[in-house]
Amino acid sequence: MANHDFGGACNCQECRTTSFVIPCPHCAFENSVLVVQDSHWETDRKGSGGYSFTLPNKPGHDFECFKCGNRVPNTLYFDEIDAEWCKTKLERQDAIERGQVCARCGAVKGHDYAKGIIEKVEQLYTVGEENLCKSCYGDYLAETLPDPSDADNRYAFNRRTLKWELARVKRACSVCGKMRWLNVENQWKTKCSKCYKGT
Ligand SMILES: [Zn+2]
Ligand SMILES: [Zn+2]
Ligand SMILES: [Zn+2]
Ligand SMILES: [Zn+2]
Repeated sequence: MANHDFGGACNCQECRTTSFVIPCPHCAFENSVLVVQDSHWETDRKGSGGYSFTLPNKPGHDFECFKCGNRVPNTLYFDEIDAEWCKTKLERQDAIERGQVCARCGAVKGHDYAKGIIEKVEQLYTVGEENLCKSCYGDYLAETLPDPSDADNRYAFNRRTLKWELARVKRACSVCGKMRWLNVENQWKTKCSKCYKGT
């Protein structure tokens, strides 16, 4: 049961539309197709109702494979090929065939997201023989570039800027002189919490 309006049963075209995959016997491309399902109102034993969707009971029809254009025999009814989805899938397969893939995590350039950072892989970074996504390149840099941390400054590697960035600093309280670690954005706090509360 689809619930478009929260808490209520919805019977709109969007909620009734579903997709399924029909593989091409010639090129193995998985064609995605869209179908608007039939709906009927159902009431359960407790008396609450909702729409139930079923695939239309109509004969299927052959169609042209989105990739190779050959005829695909098909027995299931659908309304249309999901051209947008098929196009995106085809472009991703092309990118894989052209080697636009991160050698470490397999993320595909222009299609996938780099792990851990909410950024699409728009660029691959060459390290020796390998092409890496930004996230894996960040792993490589974090292992390779020396960590500039010292006794009073802690750095963290930022996988978005691909740099070591100051994260925590050790500073003395201006009143009691006690040393304590501060997050870099809290450097303005000159007094330790004990002295701050004491004023
Ligand atoms: Zn809806
Ligand atoms: Zn095909
Ligand atoms: Zn990667
Ligand atoms: Zn203090």
